[in-house]
Amino acid sequence: MSERTISLVDHRYAASVPKVPAVAPAAGSVVLDRLGRPLHDLRISVTDRCNFRCKYCMPKEIFDTQYEFLRHDELLRFEEIERVARAFVELGVRKLRITGGEPLLRRGLEDLVGMLSRLRGADGSPVELTMTTNASALARKARALRDAGLHRVTVSLDAIDDEVFRRMNDVDFPVATVLEGIRAAQEAGLAPVKVNMVVQRGVNDQQVLPMIEHFRGSGVVLRFIEYMDVGTTNGWRMDQVVPAAELLERIGSRHGLRPLDPTVVGETAERWMLDDGSLEIGLISSVTRAFCHDCNRARLSMEGKLYLCLFAAHGHDLRALLRGDTARGIDAVDDQALRGAIAQVWNARADRYSELRGQGASEPGGSAPRRVEMSYIGG
Ligand code: SAM
Ligand code: SF4
Ligand code: SF4
Repeated sequence: MSERTISLVDHRYAASVPKVPAVAPAAGSVVLDRLGRPLHDLRISVTDRCNFRCKYCMPKEIFDTQYEFLRHDELLRFEEIERVARAFVELGVRKLRITGGEPLLRRGLEDLVGMLSRLRGADGSPVELTMTTNASALARKARALRDAGLHRVTVSLDAIDDEVFRRMNDVDFPVATVLEGIRAAQEAGLAPVKVNMVVQRGVNDQQVLPMIEHFRGSGVVLRFIEYMDVGTTNGWRMDQVVPAAELLERIGSRHGLRPLDPTVVGETAERWMLDDGSLEIGLISSVTRAFCHDCNRARLSMEGKLYLCLFAAHGHDLRALLRGDTARGIDAVDDQALRGAIAQVWNARADRYSELRGQGASEPGGSAPRRVEMSYIGG
């Protein structure tokens, strides 16, 4: 590929406007997809911008000064996000995760956290509210986020060695600031903090054991994630993936480990505890052991498109329903119609990309239309 001829990424991802059924399921109904999977988890991406340029997510040569990020009026407003989230909660969602891009770059994010934290399930129970962040601004914001009603944070950190980390974020950002953010989150009560490390062979796999050493006894949960073939810009290759089984072997050769039971159905991490109880470790084998059969997650992009799989190439344009679009003859809908439209989209879902990849049926980086980027729909 030549260096910078055409930008491979823009936000004109394929999407269609969902149909609004005549009758919507009542609030509190359980909706299932075509493989019998319920809706449980909604990830909400609040911005397409980020102050890092992690090479596997927003490589500099594409996400450069020429790159056209979305205009502010294209983003869902907080009230619109809250409306969509409420519809999802009425359809069974029990967990909301705010993500991005880097969510802490969205101005006034605490206000959105406050609005989402007031949502209640049909039985009156609160919804779990979490965020995934690079923690660059977390030391400053942890307390306000907690006060606004955030429950927990997951921090992405790919190395404990400062030099390796600076190289990976590609903006020379120091690891010390991220560690301050993690401490601030713990002190604010956003606990347990989960730390996610994406492991790439030859890039940061030598950091796995040092990360374990660093976080022993700290109270964080450390999770290792297989590098995935998301989007089209990171030049993913299978030989860069360190299979979770290999990681387990490497960790096990240094530390005693005992398995922990899964905490919830659809949990993506296989959980282990160092035998002295000093650190919980999670292994997320998104590539080598697909967990599509109980994948209960939906993803909402910052401009209001709904995706049913990380590897989706096609979104469902909820913003058109929220705002209406006279040019396209689309009327704005009420809450009940919005709920009905979302339920119908979920009912039709049959995505299971990773399973098919495992069976050799889907080509990484495969055919058009172009798949969405991780920075667009979050982790
Ligand atoms: N900026 C925030 C952060 O980094 O935590 C939130 C958004 S980021 C897209 C969410 C997560 O996706 C991060 O943990 C990141 O490491 C992960 N991620 C991005 N590209 C990935 C890939 N190709 N394979 C596996 N994880 C990836
Ligand atoms: Fe930014 Fe997160 Fe992507 Fe890194 S992984 S470039 S921090 S959005
Ligand atoms: Fe869910 Fe798609 Fe990942 Fe399978 S590949 S676990 S359906 S997001």
